[in-house]
Amino acid sequence: MIDLRSDTVTRPTAAMRAAMAAAAVGDDVYGDDPTVHRLEERLAGDLGFAAGLFMPSGTQANLVALLCHCQRGDEYLVGMEAHTYKYEGGGAAVLGSIQPQPIVPAADGSLPLPALAAAVKPDDPHFARTRLLALENTWHGRVLPQDYVQDAAAWARSVGLAVHLDGARLFNAAVASRVPARTLAAPFDSVSVCLSKGLGAPVGSVLLGSADLIAAARRWRKMLGGGMRQSGLLAAAGLHALDHHVERLAEDHARAQRLAAGLADAGVAVLGHHTNMVFIDVPPARLQALARHLEAGGVRASIGYLPTVRLVTHLDVDDAAIDRVIEVVRAFQAARP
Ligand SMILES: *Cc1c(COP(=O)(O)O)cnc(C)c1O
Repeated sequence: MIDLRSDTVTRPTAAMRAAMAAAAVGDDVYGDDPTVHRLEERLAGDLGFAAGLFMPSGTQANLVALLCHCQRGDEYLVGMEAHTYKYEGGGAAVLGSIQPQPIVPAADGSLPLPALAAAVKPDDPHFARTRLLALENTWHGRVLPQDYVQDAAAWARSVGLAVHLDGARLFNAAVASRVPARTLAAPFDSVSVCLSKGLGAPVGSVLLGSADLIAAARRWRKMLGGGMRQSGLLAAAGLHALDHHVERLAEDHARAQRLAAGLADAGVAVLGHHTNMVFIDVPPARLQALARHLEAGGVRASIGYLPTVRLVTHLDVDDAAIDRVIEVVRAFQAARP
């Protein structure tokens, strides 16, 4: 199977498994795991933060960040297509009593400043207290314009909001834009980064922030069941990914571009390709047939989860796989009724 549903489907490489097997470990809930410390310190150092905290998932890292920034009855401003709002089970509301204020995003994923400004509530008992702006980079594969990020963060600070970045694919943004991840992260009070997406680790995200924020995050992580014991095994995979799988994200981006060009050539309506993602438009009446055709041809894509069909390139997809996917889709187009 050529699995293009997501970059989360990558399997740990032999070298990554070897690094995991060789990891020095301890009980991380007692603060004893040297490999977890190395990962947290490494990413905090690389991204310019005082501290980091290793967590089982990006969902938990974002939720913990929201719990650190907002109290019960506070609200956060977030894109209505953002992961934290739409794809994390409503955790901020369910578990944090934090009200999301969704904002309609512009086509490039930015949340327009006038819409943000209009959503900030006055200090009045009628309203939730607006406390935080959450952005996402990349957003559906798109790199947020850094000028926008700087303006939005400066505006947020000027009205007393903290700023969080869901940077699940921050390194895709950095590699694609040739701007250091540290620069992309600089405007934020906290950043979450996924190791289990394009970076190819089996598990794990890291939340970065100030020493105080990370101390609070450690308590929330424990409460949410995210305190792990000999998690150095997993952190070793993350360290290996940071050493070996960051620069190569450029290959995924190039393959997404090649896939988009090939699909367009096969007559498919390509809506866009951004970093490692390709979005195509297929008439709703043909989606089921496409899913069956792809499955029979040994290809998987995200169908029915977004309004469009999404194909994601990653570590386990080579050039031959891209050619194969284009051929399978070409055959589907040729068989069009
Ligand atoms: C995958 C993802 C997350 C959450 O990560 P999980 O590890 O799957 O919980 C958060 N934000 C974005 C943008 C993501 O793509």
